[in-house]
Amino acid sequence: MSETRFHESGSRRRIKEMEVMVADLKVETQDTVTLILFTGNDHLEYKAGHFLTIDPHQFEALDRFITFFEDVKGTTEPTRAYSISSAPHERYLAITVKEERYVSGVTKYPPLLSPLLVKRTTRGMRLVITGFTGPYVLPDDVEQQTDHVVHVVAGSGAVPNFAMVKWALVHCPSICHTWVCSNKGWQDVIFREELAQLERENPSRLRVVNLLTRDPVTPVSQGVWKGRISAASLKELVPDPRAALVYACGPANGPHERAAAQARGEEPQPRFLESALAAIREAGVPGDRIKLESWG
Ligand SMILES: Cc1cc2nc3c(=O)[nH]c(=O)nc-3n(C[C@H](O)[C@H](O)[C@H](O)COP(=O)(O)OP(=O)(O)OC[C@H]3O[C@@H](n4cnc5c(N)ncnc54)[C@H](O)[C@@H]3O)c2cc1C
Repeated sequence: MSETRFHESGSRRRIKEMEVMVADLKVETQDTVTLILFTGNDHLEYKAGHFLTIDPHQFEALDRFITFFEDVKGTTEPTRAYSISSAPHERYLAITVKEERYVSGVTKYPPLLSPLLVKRTTRGMRLVITGFTGPYVLPDDVEQQTDHVVHVVAGSGAVPNFAMVKWALVHCPSICHTWVCSNKGWQDVIFREELAQLERENPSRLRVVNLLTRDPVTPVSQGVWKGRISAASLKELVPDPRAALVYACGPANGPHERAAAQARGEEPQPRFLESALAAIREAGVPGDRIKLESWG
């Protein structure tokens, strides 16, 4: 695919804008899809955990919504970030997108880009992406820093950590991973089969626990727990919290939630990442061993 522009990032890594083609689509859950992107022969320089960005202005189908939103919001619609769900050693580039919902009386505006990427993207469609960047990556000397990486994720927050687990299982043989993933129900869990397969292939190096918050049907088992993320569950899963590195990713309060709460004269209700951070700290993980990435 054609590469159209280069930018120099602060870290001296080149950020490329490139046109890619949707080579395949994998439906992960009812609202989440993985897009496999064909990038031609371009050499893709990215790390597990990096994201790319997509500018909604490139889609003709969104023209009238963008014009309307820019009128009512009074700002230019920004590019949207998507973590890369493939790992650098894999032979394809992929992103995994969850469709945001418009909830009457709750959501201020209908979501713009994610419905198009999830429900209206077809094989062969071309899109321009910019990437790759982001601070949510394992340190280069991760094996010197720890032998246990704990992934605390929710919903599509699993995406960057999934890439990290795949990469580190191959490239960092001394590291074990604990995967703690929160979802409402079993049907909402993305990468379920792939993670189960990785766990079977690496029984001493990967433990997967799915925390289900609103699923009365799926039975509790070694890999399926009920309830929300808590210090108690983390203490059970992380025997030496002072020595582990914890990577937590998922929904958090963003500027819109904070502004809405402020207008009501309230503190915003904690979302997943705020609750997870409190639990991780209470479980005894030092602040400098916790890395966060939020959507919000
Ligand atoms: C680093 C990073 C990585 C990410 N990775 C992923 C990923 O791997 N997969 C994934 O699915 N998502 C990911 N996201 C989220 C993604 O970037 C988008 O935010 C998401 O897809 C929603 O975009 P949208 O255009 O559909 O919705 P938007 O149009 O952005 O709307 C989202 C919400 O914001 C509200 N809103 C928008 N504008 C305003 C306003 N002016 N005032 C008040 N409320 C407003 C809307 O009402 C709605 O509730 C990531 C985000 C970041 C920052």
